Amino acid sequence: MTVISLPENIENLKAYSSAKSEKIVGSTWLNANESPYAQSFTLTLDDLNRYPDPQPVAVINAYAAYAELTSDQVLMTRGADEGIELLVRTFCGLKQDSITIFTPTYGMYKVTADTHNIAINELSQSDLQSLSAAEIASRSAQSKLVFICNPNNPTGATIQPAKIAEIATALAGQAIVVVDEAYIEFSDALTACKLINDFSNLVILRTLSKAFAMAGLRSGFTLAQAKTLAPIRKVIAPYPVSTVVASIAARVLSPDSITQMKRQVTILNSAKAKLIGWLTNSNAVLTVLEGQGNFVTLKLADVTAYEAAKTAGLIMRPFTLYGESDWLRISIGSESELDNVKLWLDSIAAKGTK
Ligand SMILES: *Cc1c(COP(=O)(O)O)cnc(C)c1O
Repeated sequence: MTVISLPENIENLKAYSSAKSEKIVGSTWLNANESPYAQSFTLTLDDLNRYPDPQPVAVINAYAAYAELTSDQVLMTRGADEGIELLVRTFCGLKQDSITIFTPTYGMYKVTADTHNIAINELSQSDLQSLSAAEIASRSAQSKLVFICNPNNPTGATIQPAKIAEIATALAGQAIVVVDEAYIEFSDALTACKLINDFSNLVILRTLSKAFAMAGLRSGFTLAQAKTLAPIRKVIAPYPVSTVVASIAARVLSPDSITQMKRQVTILNSAKAKLIGWLTNSNAVLTVLEGQGNFVTLKLADVTAYEAAKTAGLIMRPFTLYGESDWLRISIGSESELDNVKLWLDSIAAKGTK
């Protein structure tokens, strides 16, 4: 029972559930695509009596340099998730517009649309790969936003920038193509950033949560032409980024720190190749989706193997994909964390799961 009656769309929402919100006990956390690399920071701030800069100039300039864009093409948000929410709030009219998503994909597009009473036009990842840009445009005719997650979470599937350009061309004057590049650092040649100056209906979402190893900081970026960002700047809260967050984000985006991030990405990509080798050789695993990103998604021969991992303190992310509940996404952690995955794989294979 609620205090007063709720709007129907809110009544029907389920709160976002994660291993953390469910207070699962674990020792090895490979469920949320976090980086294993933690940095420590010491801060001296003497101006916290003042409101922060609405868009911290040092951070915006550093991210613009990193993405090879101009500063007026960069908006900083409370994680990429706030970018998703701002796009829906800014561009979708209540009860008339929809968003298009290609499933299976990142869950927050649907959660955000449901929260704002915006309809979802669901196409599939295979539609995205196989349909022409014109067909995608005609099948998303009521949509104001077409979300393309590249690389896609949780399948790792990728799409070439040339195809994104074709889709943006086909959708000109009709919809904005939103390319969610949360994992782009793990496959950086695929970025659509270079298209921003050519397409006013292209928006790119970025985050510091994954390759930059700053999930706890809650920092993301929305990248687009200045005229595309202008209406979003009217909708965003006045002070979305605290002084504390801005001061750390500026350090995370220093040239040295970016070099370090790239080194870590190289290590994580090769650790991932090793994990894929183990998984493809395990008789406890039926399918391995070999894609990009700091995660691997696989289909278990026997779903009870997931419970065995949880009991051992190894927390991974279970998924229902293609109507089947026996999928699992493993984030690429440290060497010792992945060794725990190997121990688990050996233990379930030994039981003759297949
Ligand atoms: C993790 C993730 C995000 C969210 O990033 P935050 O910046 O932590 O909000 C956005 N999109 C995708 C596809 C993700 O996997």
